[in-house]
Amino acid sequence: MTELLVKNACVIDPLNGILLETMDIPVRDGKIVSSVSSAADVIDARGCLTLPGGIDSHSHVCGTKVNFGRYMSPEDMRAGRTARRGKMHVTSGYYVPTTFGNSYRYSTMGYTTVLEGAMAPLEARHTHEEFTATPHQDMLANTLFDGNWAIMESVRERDFKKTAAIVAWTLAAVKGYSIKLTNPGGTEAWGWGDDLSSIHDPVPNFNVTPAEIIAAMIEANELLGLPHSVHLHCNNLGKPGNYRTTLETFDLVPDKNNARQTLYATHVQFHAYGGTTWRDINSKAEEITRSVNAKPQIVMDMGQIMFGRTMTMTADGPMEFNLYCLHHNKWSNHDVELETGSGIIPVLYSKKSLVNCVMWAIGLELALLTKDPYQCLLATDNPNGAPFVKYPEIIGLLMSRRYRDEEFATLHEGTGQRTAIASIDREMDWNEIAVMTRAGQAKALGMAAQGKGHLGEGAEADIAIYPIRCHAVDPATEYRKVVEGFQKTMFTIKRGRVVARDGEVIVEGANSTFWVNPSVPEDLSVRNDPEFVRKFREYYTVRMDNYPVQDVYLPRGKCIRTEGAL
Ligand SMILES: [Zn+2]
Repeated sequence: MTELLVKNACVIDPLNGILLETMDIPVRDGKIVSSVSSAADVIDARGCLTLPGGIDSHSHVCGTKVNFGRYMSPEDMRAGRTARRGKMHVTSGYYVPTTFGNSYRYSTMGYTTVLEGAMAPLEARHTHEEFTATPHQDMLANTLFDGNWAIMESVRERDFKKTAAIVAWTLAAVKGYSIKLTNPGGTEAWGWGDDLSSIHDPVPNFNVTPAEIIAAMIEANELLGLPHSVHLHCNNLGKPGNYRTTLETFDLVPDKNNARQTLYATHVQFHAYGGTTWRDINSKAEEITRSVNAKPQIVMDMGQIMFGRTMTMTADGPMEFNLYCLHHNKWSNHDVELETGSGIIPVLYSKKSLVNCVMWAIGLELALLTKDPYQCLLATDNPNGAPFVKYPEIIGLLMSRRYRDEEFATLHEGTGQRTAIASIDREMDWNEIAVMTRAGQAKALGMAAQGKGHLGEGAEADIAIYPIRCHAVDPATEYRKVVEGFQKTMFTIKRGRVVARDGEVIVEGANSTFWVNPSVPEDLSVRNDPEFVRKFREYYTVRMDNYPVQDVYLPRGKCIRTEGAL
């Protein structure tokens, strides 16, 4: 038995309604309990800000395309090198670090759980191997279904139970957590040298539309009772005028009596553009947030960009090709048979570029114009919009109008005409930041029930203590202290164990991978569907028996069984 007592913590725990209360947090064997014995180890938080461990609900840190991003950027490997210290591994890379680099940097910032934004099912083994090598964070895999042939055929047949059964088998086979759709149908079309420009365009050879895929997958997700909702990267990413596609997509989302989130729209900044070309691009954040404010069943994340060099990587192959045509830099494109694809290119976001300045403003506008912080979470689509190490700066920008004005004054002079950022007064408070970085993520991902994102009794003892005295800091004027404070915790505690102290990782971790195994009646199981089995044998280059990821790939896997309504 191990016991720990965190004393004098100034706690914000939004899911339990605790706001800046000074209290003690007793921990036994990795869980938060009501009391501990006098023999417990003691950490004195000295009245500093104490939050549940941070959760990144959309980040690209593991798997084939992240790894290919590493191959493509040897110059980045020199940028972020840290030496071996005791048991700590050498790390390298700034925007596409090694897995240990990602893990240690998240730990020093107080992040303890990360959802990998896109795992191709056929390449799941590689993703799980990299999860294991991301030692300090619990990991979840968004599983790609956007161009899945069997799924599209079942959608065309309007057989939602079959769609759900395919999802269930695949998630259990590849140890995935949730349904991810990236430019649904578009990447399959790209496999034939094409793309889709509207959610009502048919996918070549399948005669289904993105709108039909999205609606069917939401239906399947709810039939299976998955912990998370459908996680969607909308069609037409990064195209001027694409806000119409985004609004049309949001209108597809059924309202389940406000009881349940049915869509997570990711990196919405990239999907909130007005105008017709790059010359007249402008912000449509107001239109997007008006829709989200009226639809409690939708949660989005910002997809904030920050200025500097980074790497973009996504399953949206055609989008990356368009971006390549603009930049003429390195480009990689990849097809995953029968399932999805991907593209990767490096980018530099510059204050000299009006388009980049408009993008920067849109991300912030989305957060500041969304009334309920549970509906707009903080993320950069790491590393697409910026490496996650920029999160503290984004927190500073959200909390301080003065900081935003100072930044705004350094941007391209046309930014004010294209965006509303300069006229927004809102300054977020500590509680709203806690929601946007942990409580909201836990709720959106359905992980609060697993003891994530809160500090109530029974919760996992994932705790971040920041060197910030909230009562003595005015974020509106002292935003530098806020930014610095969120960069390095005093203590990051993972399952009751101190893993980082004063910005240094001090012990090796032992994460868990959460995955979902939905229950499906035997007669609906795809293993008993001769048509599914035959097509699998004929079309895949891997056998159905060899497809599932073996348990050995998840040394600390945690399976969540769901009972749906199938
Ligand atoms: Zn992403």
